[in-house]
Parts: sequence; C-alpha cells; structure tokens
Amino acid sequence: MSTVKFLQSLTLWELVRGLRLTGRHLFERKITVQYPEEKTPQSARFRGLHALRRYANGEERCIACKLCEAVCPAVAITIESEPRDDGTRRTTRYDIDLTKCIFCGFCEESCPVDSIVETRHFEYHGEQRGDLLMTKEKLLAHGDLMEEQIAKDRQQEMAYR
Ligand code: SF4
Ligand code: SF4
Repeated sequence: MSTVKFLQSLTLWELVRGLRLTGRHLFERKITVQYPEEKTPQSARFRGLHALRRYANGEERCIACKLCEAVCPAVAITIESEPRDDGTRRTTRYDIDLTKCIFCGFCEESCPVDSIVETRHFEYHGEQRGDLLMTKEKLLAHGDLMEEQIAKDRQQEMAYR
C-alpha cells in the first residue's frame, strides 16, 4: 500500500468524501414523486391501454383493413371480419392480448382511420389471464370512456404527424 493510500485510510478519507456527497444533496429540492397521490406529467403521445374509437354519430371507425394486425410485432392482435348488408366491412372480432403486447404503438401508427389508439390510461391490472384480453367490446367501451381525452391528444399530436 502506498503512503498516500495508507494516510487516506487512517483519516477515513473515503468516508469523508461520501459524507460530503450526501451533505451536498441533503437540502436540495426532493424529486421523489409520491405516487399514486402525485403523478408525473404525461405526454399526449403516451402509450397506455388501447381503445377503439367511434365517429361522432356512434359508428365504429374500424374498417377491418387488418393493417394493425399485420404490423403488430408481437402478434397480439386478432381480427375477424364480415361485410355488412350495406356493403361496408366491419370486424366481428377484434382482440388484443395484453400479455403479448409490447406497447410499441405500431398499431395506432398504421391505422388509416385513427381507430385503434393507445390511451393515457395505464393503471389497470388483471387477476386472471382472461382479464388481459381486450375484446372488441372492452376496447370500444374504453374508447367511449376516453374519447374526449383522445380527441384532445390527437389535436395536439397533429404537429408530429
Ligand atoms: S402496441 Fe405494438 S405490440 Fe401492442 S398491439 Fe399494438 S402493434 Fe402490437
Ligand atoms: S383498427 Fe385501423 S388498422 Fe386495424 S383493422 Fe381497424 S381500420 Fe384497420
């Protein structure tokens, strides 16, 4: 051991350095967030729980083009569709398996009619595997619930698109 190291160990130099660092941060403004009482700001592009949107007249936006299903890298989306009597095509099944989803946002990026979106909602859980399977009904209901926020975020996002 060199003389310098020896003297440093005798004077507890390492400990002094450590305490100096602690002291420097002792009276600084605390940045710890007391979640869930406090929340951090969220981006308008936050990628949380999915939703399917409707037009103002209540008609579902999705035209069953299956682009989202094709682009999904996790193969989490399953779509089945049928033509309606009026000749339009709509989904008869639209499932997202959240146990596979990696929240990449590709589905919403690929959608030509702004139907499938990822909302700001992230505080959800499932107690059984089936709870994390978002069916068409659940996705539409979530879309109805969040539509105001989704529309506002879309407006804000225009600049990036
Ligand atoms: S967010 Fe990504 S992984 Fe999840 S369903 Fe959409 S495309 Fe698939
Ligand atoms: S959600 Fe969009 S991309 Fe997916 S099938 Fe419907 S219209 Fe096509």
